Amino acid sequence: MSEKTASYLKDLKKYAKEHIFEETLSYIKNTLGAHRTSRVTEGVYENRVVKCTTLNGRTLWFYLGKKEVYLVIPMMFCSCMDFLINVVERKIVPACYHLASQILAENYGKYRRLSNITVDEEEAILEEVEKYKYSPTLVRLLVKKEQIKNI
Ligand SMILES: [Zn+2]
Repeated sequence: MSEKTASYLKDLKKYAKEHIFEETLSYIKNTLGAHRTSRVTEGVYENRVVKCTTLNGRTLWFYLGKKEVYLVIPMMFCSCMDFLINVVERKIVPACYHLASQILAENYGKYRRLSNITVDEEEAILEEVEKYKYSPTLVRLLVKKEQIKNI
């Protein structure tokens, strides 16, 4: 990961702490452009960011896209193509919208939570995301949680 990405994400996180959501969106618009900003807005409003905590104390963040699931390592890495191509290789932008969404979701408390993930579930999720860019296991756990909540 480049210094540019690290410092951009650090600045964005700091900015979000000191400003309301809409102002932070303007900040993103000025730095990542209108298209990525509308995706960030959508991602946060639709609760697409998921924070998983495992039984052995690990924290994992994911972004649930419409067709794909991305692993987001806050302030560092995203498994999407935009990150690989436009952030890492071409260095066109300092971050993809998933990394920005994670910062906003965490800062404004707009994310879904899954806790007590077992080691087997964690391994399955990570393997699925790596192999298929999607995770039936993660989706199944989220659906199960929603059902319990609605009973
Ligand atoms: Zn991404």
